[in-house]
Amino acid sequence: ISYKNVNLDSLLEQILTLMRSQALLNDIEIEAAYCFKDTSIFGDENQLKQVFINYIKNAIEAMTDGGKILIEGEFLSENQVIIRIVDQGPGIPAEILERISEPFFTTKEQGTGLGMPVSYQIIKEHKGDMLISSSSTGTSVEVVLPRES
Ligand code: ADP
Ligand code: MG
Repeated sequence: ISYKNVNLDSLLEQILTLMRSQALLNDIEIEAAYCFKDTSIFGDENQLKQVFINYIKNAIEAMTDGGKILIEGEFLSENQVIIRIVDQGPGIPAEILERISEPFFTTKEQGTGLGMPVSYQIIKEHKGDMLISSSSTGTSVEVVLPRES
């Protein structure tokens, strides 16, 4: 694990390139609404990638009828950024939300149940935080991270 300055726009761009093809196969469009310009996160690039890939993958897997995933980002304060992954899936019922950070907890036949706990662990190691809000019209995963510059 090697920490360095990771440009946020280019990190997200790489993830979008990767995930858009998978989304399209499921009739899902990924819309990006952020502009962090030269803002970086001090962290491990591969781990940070893994976080966003996990959340977007979950969003895709939740949206069985297709639709749109929104990736939006902004400054929460001068030294914090927030990135939201907003899906149009069926939402997360309370009894699942309760257990979502348990390793190996999954509702999927082929699931590992590791995406959420591993992502949260990585975010914590980067001194960030994560918050889920969910309703019957979709789920929003909010990632807060400290910015480097
Ligand atoms: P996996 O994807 O392998 O099941 P995760 O840890 O990534 O494991 O997710 C755990 C569970 O949380 C999923 O099985 C699913 O029930 C629920 N979940 C996570 N993200 C979403 C989402 N965006 N919409 C609906 N359910 C979700
Ligand atoms: Mg997952």
